[in-house]
Amino acid sequence: MPSLCDHSLESLSLRLTQWNEPPSHAPRILRAHYQTHGQPDWSALPISRSLMRRLNDELSTRPSRLITTHTSADGTQKLLLACEGGTVESVLMPGHRPGVAAGCISSQVGCAMGCDFCASTRDGFVANLSAGQIIDQFLHLRHYAAAIGRRLQTVVFMGMGEPMLNLPAVIESIARMTHPSMGNLGAGRITVSTVGIVPGIDALADCGHKVQLALSLHAPDDETRARLVPMNRRYGIDLIMAAAKRYQLRTGRFVNIEYCLLNEVNDSADHARRLASLMEGFRAHVNIIPYNPIGPALSGITYQRPTPRRLEQFVQILRDYSVVTHIRQPRGDQINAACGQLRRQTLPTMPAAGEPAASTAQSHPAEPVQEPAQR
Ligand code: SAH
Repeated sequence: MPSLCDHSLESLSLRLTQWNEPPSHAPRILRAHYQTHGQPDWSALPISRSLMRRLNDELSTRPSRLITTHTSADGTQKLLLACEGGTVESVLMPGHRPGVAAGCISSQVGCAMGCDFCASTRDGFVANLSAGQIIDQFLHLRHYAAAIGRRLQTVVFMGMGEPMLNLPAVIESIARMTHPSMGNLGAGRITVSTVGIVPGIDALADCGHKVQLALSLHAPDDETRARLVPMNRRYGIDLIMAAAKRYQLRTGRFVNIEYCLLNEVNDSADHARRLASLMEGFRAHVNIIPYNPIGPALSGITYQRPTPRRLEQFVQILRDYSVVTHIRQPRGDQINAACGQLRRQTLPTMPAAGEPAASTAQSHPAEPVQEPAQR
């Protein structure tokens, strides 16, 4: 059944017209859908009974079903969603500040990028997610955030997949997340992360939504980077840094440089100095992500997280060069929900709609969560 998550304001207005209903109800219907995180009560809206029936019978509110949630000791929650064509993972991270949470969203099932230290790419690319499937993750995350008394304040496209290779759906989902009648989230609260697909970065800069850009750099020289990120052979460091600078010029946004720190691979003092010189004159923040273990990499190498001393030395050098540097503390690594640990899941048997969901020892079967009051 088609879902409300698949609709934009325009397409829903059109559908209402086809049903001989006033298209002016579209914003109200979508607002109710988003404000209740996909669990609207149509009887609370001033709409006709016939429209209520149509909405109930002809449009589902969610294209996916929640299969399991895993919760880490630090409060990070990983959601496994079954949607048409496969399973998708999203991660909810309660913030350090009370009342808010961040959500990490997948843009593809699997990933074609082949980054050596990332689990998401191990089984290759499976499918692009539709805008509706991305919005569905957004609503699930909002729902779970609200269930723990928090508001989903930021969204990062840092789950599974390369967003720039599914850009039309990613941009459409951003349009819906930010639309005042839909997600109503500020564009500055959304980050799109990329390995550095240059035409994608330029297209995102031109799309009109001034979202934040994160560039997964991971090495300051092409030789090291090409070993870690195969896409570097197509778009080398000069090209991607130039694209990131163009992005900044066009949108006025700071760019985040993501740098997964791997022991004795990209964490030497020389790497730090070369990274600092790349940052010269560029208003960017560097986020250091200490490697989250995934076992042997595609190349057969088993990477290690750097020792605290090496991490400290690396960060200190960057700061000595006045590079704004943050260390991203691993979150949810006990439940394989940290950066780079999301991977495609295959379910042995998919329960049919209405049947109980699967569960595993350390996971919680999907349970209806008490819906908090509308905001
Ligand atoms: N394909 C996009 C979106 C994924 S974002 C991109 O690469 O930017 C996932 C982030 O986590 C990226 O910065 C990625 O490089 C990083 N990452 C991947 N594997 C990791 C690991 N094992 N430990 C720490 N960070 C990792």
